[in-house]
Parts: sequence; C-alpha cells; structure tokens
Amino acid sequence: MDVPILDLKAPTAELRADCDEAYRRVMDSGWFLLGSELAAFESEYAKSVESAHCIGVANGLEALQLVLMARGIGPGDEIIVPSNGYIATWLAVTHVGATPVPCEPDPRTYNLDPAHIDALVTPRTKAVLPIHLYGQTADMVAINSEAERRGLFVLEDAAQSHGALCHGRASGALGHAAGHSFYPSKNFGAMADAGAITTDDAGLADRLQHLRNYGCKVRYQNDYIGLNSRLSELQAAFLRVKLLHLMDWNSRRRVLAARYLNQLRGVGDLVLPYVPEWAEPVWHLFVIRTARRDALQAHLTARGVGTQIHYPTPPHLSGAYRDAGWKRGDFPIAEKLAAEVLSLPISPHHSAEQIDYVCESVRSFFDPHA
Ligand SMILES: *Cc1c(COP(=O)(O)O)cnc(C)c1O
Repeated sequence: MDVPILDLKAPTAELRADCDEAYRRVMDSGWFLLGSELAAFESEYAKSVESAHCIGVANGLEALQLVLMARGIGPGDEIIVPSNGYIATWLAVTHVGATPVPCEPDPRTYNLDPAHIDALVTPRTKAVLPIHLYGQTADMVAINSEAERRGLFVLEDAAQSHGALCHGRASGALGHAAGHSFYPSKNFGAMADAGAITTDDAGLADRLQHLRNYGCKVRYQNDYIGLNSRLSELQAAFLRVKLLHLMDWNSRRRVLAARYLNQLRGVGDLVLPYVPEWAEPVWHLFVIRTARRDALQAHLTARGVGTQIHYPTPPHLSGAYRDAGWKRGDFPIAEKLAAEVLSLPISPHHSAEQIDYVCESVRSFFDPHA
C-alpha cells in the first residue's frame, strides 16, 4: 500500500464542478483583484471565525507582517514568538525591523508556554505572537491574561488552525488580531498563495485595507506606506467553495486522528499528541515523537508511508538568524522537539485503511516480531 503524506489533487477532485464554476465566474467577470468575490469571501470568513472584520491578503507571512506594520511596530520593538514551529512567524517580525524574542513551548502541547512570558517582557516588548501549532490552539486564556497585565498586543498565527476551538471560541478570534494562511496544503487551502487577517478592531481593519494595497483605499490617495499584498478574485472564489466544506473536512481529520491515538497508544517510546480538555484541534498535522525518529522515518519510507518533519531546524539555529547570536542549547525544548518529531499522513482524503496500514507499519518498527 502507498500512503502519501498529502494528495493535493483529491480536494479539488471532490469539489471539481463547483471550482470549475467559480473559475468561469471570475474569468467572465473581467475583474481580477479587489472585487466582489473578495468582499463576499471576507464577509463569509469573518462570520465563520466570529470576528468582526476580515481583510484578504497575499499570504500568511504578509498577514502577520501587515498587522505588525499597522500597529506601528518596528526597530527597537520586541515581539515574543515561539522558539519552536515555522520560521515564517519570526520572519514577519524581522521584516518590520523588530526583534523576535523566543519563548519555549509547553513540552506537552508544543505551543507557547504562557508561564515563560513574564520573564521575557521588557519595556520594549510590544506584542505576543503565539502559533496554534499543528492545528491546536495555544492556551489563549492564559496568554491573554499575561498580555493584558503587561499591556501587550496579542497576534495569533492561525495559519495551521482553521476551525480549531479554544474553550469553544474559534481560532482567529482569540487575540486582538490573527494572521491566516491559505497555502494549498493547509486545512483550508487555496490553489496558490493566499492569506487573511481577522480582527474585531475597526480602526486596525481600516489601516490594513490601506496597507495591503500600497497604503491606498481611494485610488491615488496614498495615506500610508503599504505593500502590494492582495488576495486575488480567483483564489477568493475557490476559497468560498472550500469554506462550505471546512467543517466536514476537519471532522474527517478528527476521525482519523482518533484512529491513530487508539492504535498507537503504548507503542515503543512514542509520545502521542496531547489535547487539553479545553482544546478542540483540527489536526492540521498528526505529530508523534520518538528518540529513534530518523530510523522510524526510514522504515516508514521503505513501507510506502510518506512522512515529514515539522520542523527539523528551530528558527534560532537556521541560517537566516546566523548573525543574531543564538547557539545550540539556547532553547532546549525547541531543539529536542526538532530532533524527535515526525508527522504521519492525515487529511480529509486519507482512508481508515490507509491509517491502519500506517499504524501497523509503525508497530512493526518497534516490535519486528509482532
Ligand atoms: C504556513 C505558515 C505560515 C506562512 O503562511 P504562507 O501563506 O505560506 O506565507 C506562517 N506561520 C505558520 C505557522 C505556517 O504554518
């Protein structure tokens, strides 16, 4: 059996007729940017997140960057970011000239540990930027209360958590603003780069509408120094089709995650995903840990099971930050995770039989005689 980590043809195949219709609608309209598809998508997505405003932008990285720009964050300012996870979160901070201040994760949830925030705050700290890693929200009640005490802005990196809940509230409505990515492989993916910002802050939303379009909302009236970061009509039209299926697709992931959790409990030295009782994850990735990660990955590859490592190098040890002065040992939890994590196949388009085959393959690695 072959179990690819991801099959990006399957989602489009399931929605083929509706995607074709969306494509024709945009092509025939002769209007490709900042039009009625984007406006409709923004209102539909804001509603699904239960956020007052949604601003479509070109990608998830710029969604985060634009919020920092709109807050006037720049050189000399410090932003608390997770020490583990994807480097894009850090890059958004670096692109506005501010300094990422890494915060170690809770070793059980892999999300930013609110208990460490206080020790990292300085007079220069302006915001906390937690990631909802692998599709499970960070502990936003604790993060918000730390931030409120210190007067910090809270920006969620919601690139991996479309539809996830924290105490029943949706990812994207858990801080002051949230950056979303619709990169094709995310739970809610477009057919090219795309992203969005959600917020309840009307003033912030207005500035963001300028900043994504050269700092201009009324043509040739440029009130801010903006970017060109627009979500195209075509991608907005595709996203409108897919939004109708997001809940269903997330519940299909949930069923497969439960299958993994049942079949992999107690196998070898595996550490399985931990879900606090207040969290409802959407399983963007199903990430296990083992001290024998590389050997397990090779074993699974040989059995036709695709896996990936999210992420093999913590941002502080990446070449991009070579001049920032960090070294191995600075963030031991992030470094240990990078050495041990392995992502198994999960998506709405994997079958129960495929997941069972992956589980059997994992078990055969730890117990070759079974
Ligand atoms: C995908 C991702 C991003 C970046 O999104 P793009 O749309 O690829 O720019 C940022 N943060 C996290 C956690 C991501 O997974």
